[in-house]
Amino acid sequence: MSTTLNLARTVARDAARLAGKLCLAIRAEMLRNPSAMEKAGHEPVTIADYGSQAVILHHISHRFPGDCTLAEERAAEFMSLATAFQHHQVLHYVSEVLEQTLSLSEIQRLLDIGCANETSRMWVVDPIDGTKGFLRGDQFAVAVALLVEGEPVVGALACPLLPFDPANPHDTTGVVAVASKGEGATIQPLGGVNARPLRVSTISDLSEARVVESVEPGHTDHAFNERVASRAGVSSEVVRIDSQAKYAVVADGQAEVYIRHSGGTDYREKVWDHAAGYLIVKEAGGCVTDLNGKPLDFSQGSKLVNNSGVLATNGYVHDQLLEAIASEQQAAK
Ligand code: AMP
Ligand code: MG
Repeated sequence: MSTTLNLARTVARDAARLAGKLCLAIRAEMLRNPSAMEKAGHEPVTIADYGSQAVILHHISHRFPGDCTLAEERAAEFMSLATAFQHHQVLHYVSEVLEQTLSLSEIQRLLDIGCANETSRMWVVDPIDGTKGFLRGDQFAVAVALLVEGEPVVGALACPLLPFDPANPHDTTGVVAVASKGEGATIQPLGGVNARPLRVSTISDLSEARVVESVEPGHTDHAFNERVASRAGVSSEVVRIDSQAKYAVVADGQAEVYIRHSGGTDYREKVWDHAAGYLIVKEAGGCVTDLNGKPLDFSQGSKLVNNSGVLATNGYVHDQLLEAIASEQQAAK
């Protein structure tokens, strides 16, 4: 592996892990006293989203000061939506995780750090993917990816509520999964060092396949997914999981299919919702395309404008699923 790619993989993993710890620290307080703000587009945002983004961008920009960053949250919204008390809370948690005291203006600068130079290297960050799940007490993820010339080459996902040992669903270790292009994917406990390789399952019989989808009905068309699963001969119930934890579950051989279809709307998926998970599934031996079988195109800015929906599988069942999707779309016309 090239030294730069190796370093980027470590930086992405550590940034996601630090941010995952910050989210866990805030989560307990959030569940006791839910205090989400509403940003543009009526999406919820919390102090954990802002704190997580500041931690990640601090970690990355110190190590790769010449790189661009594209992250979900904006400093102006943080300043206008959050109260003075919430600004103070973010400062407190960020300083605690980074073990250094930052100022409010430093946090604002970090949140909007963007691009200082012309470069083909772009870090894509979702500080909390699945904020709605986070607020419900369900799964969420911290996602960090590096794109070079519009292609994911490094991806890290912290999933602080996923078990490291899938055989023990009560395991509350939390995990961080990481991949780099051509070098495979691994998973390790959120706070630990013993990584194991990630490999997709080898199930090719769709009657045995396990399918995952979003919890939120506004993010995917549950009825469409159900019809596709039934057309394809899937016999078990579709399981709902928030965030890119779905990609981690497929990469770890705990499910064979992740399907995402924004029910007839013209919604275009966001780059930060997929780049890290995409690479992790690919490097674990799986396959990721849109619902028409087109490769995901991460080179068009913040949205996957050339794609419609997402299908991530273990590879063995991909073509059969694409056929079922095409038949379902044909039947719906
Ligand atoms: P999930 O937890 O997998 O449902 O995904 C959470 C992500 O869904 C959020 O980060 C949002 O960016 C994204 N999202 C918001 N609205 C939509 C929509 N209409 N269709 C698909 N994804 C959406
Ligand atoms: Mg997201």
